[in-house]
Amino acid sequence: MENYDLIIIGGGPSGLSAGLYAARRNLKVLILSETLGGQMALAPSVENYPGTEPMPGLKLAEKMKKQAEKFGCEFKLSKVVSLDLKNEVKKIKTPEKEYSAKTIIIATGSHYRKLEAEGEDKFIGKGVSYCATCDIPLFKGKKVAIIGGSDTAVRSAIYASEIASKIYLIHRRDQLRAEEASQEQLKKTSVKIIWNSVVEKIEGDKFVNKIIIKNVNMNEKTELAVDGVFIEVGEVPTTEIVKAAGVEVNEKNFIKVDDKFQTNISGVFAAGDVTGSFAQIVTAAAEGAEAATNAYLFLRGGFYGEKKPTDYGEKK
Ligand SMILES: Cc1cc2nc3c(=O)[nH]c(=O)nc-3n(C[C@H](O)[C@H](O)[C@H](O)COP(=O)(O)OP(=O)(O)OC[C@H]3O[C@@H](n4cnc5c(N)ncnc54)[C@H](O)[C@@H]3O)c2cc1C
Repeated sequence: MENYDLIIIGGGPSGLSAGLYAARRNLKVLILSETLGGQMALAPSVENYPGTEPMPGLKLAEKMKKQAEKFGCEFKLSKVVSLDLKNEVKKIKTPEKEYSAKTIIIATGSHYRKLEAEGEDKFIGKGVSYCATCDIPLFKGKKVAIIGGSDTAVRSAIYASEIASKIYLIHRRDQLRAEEASQEQLKKTSVKIIWNSVVEKIEGDKFVNKIIIKNVNMNEKTELAVDGVFIEVGEVPTTEIVKAAGVEVNEKNFIKVDDKFQTNISGVFAAGDVTGSFAQIVTAAAEGAEAATNAYLFLRGGFYGEKKPTDYGEKK
């Protein structure tokens, strides 16, 4: 069994940033990940990661990996199939091998819930998006539909109203689930709400140019000309394996962490989208950095002990 100070599960921006911070602390660190870059790798162009030119998400992931490896972080493409977190030294199993580590960071991310509408997959990145914060700026002066009734969907519609020319908010019920304050804000915009309706089909040529919606009460179908469809119907965190190992999650299945990004299990940390934070590359990377720093302090006994974690400086 190979032993490490820290094993990070997940090679998205959160895991890669954690790997960089841990390796620069001189920890023996390994990232185990099914894919390189996670959701970030699906972004055709990342325009909002500070200090970088717009580039494909996969390219940004390759740069992050290279930077972490430069400081000694190891990276293996593999799926973690089970965890044993009961003892001080944790065990991590992949189909090929078993590993052990004194600390773990779970950075397994999440995925956006799909509508399962016809044409949805065909137009991902060609008008269909699951992230208004990421992609609304690409729709300046255009017509967009936001799908959903949650607070995220309403806030996306408000944001879109400052950038797009025509915004439809399409919701399958007759009232929104969003917070009162967001609904009040929405009333001040030009967003047109289409109630009791679902998207049946997304159509276009190279890019989306229309959607077919169905009123669920009247069973009536309507065509709506739009350039973009923002699907905001929720996120599903990747937590099955860690839940089975005793890691606590909240009612939406996101991992519960304290202000040190530690889970309910001592020495087990979580960072990025899997904690239910603002799903962006910059925040995932920031959480990874903090979790890795706290894992380091935990290993050095300066965390939650008599000694307070006052030293956040690099290892002398
Ligand atoms: C199409 C698209 C475009 C986006 N565009 C932008 C953008 O322009 N700007 C922006 O800031 N954000 C963007 N986002 C959001 C951003 O990509 C995510 O918020 C970010 O990637 C979350 O990082 P993470 O490391 O927490 O998780 P993820 O990126 O989801 O990475 C999780 C990793 O864990 C791995 N994993 C999961 N389970 C296991 C397991 N059992 N064993 C091993 N590995 C496992 C996965 O393979 C994956 O590599 C976009 C998202 C999408 C889908």
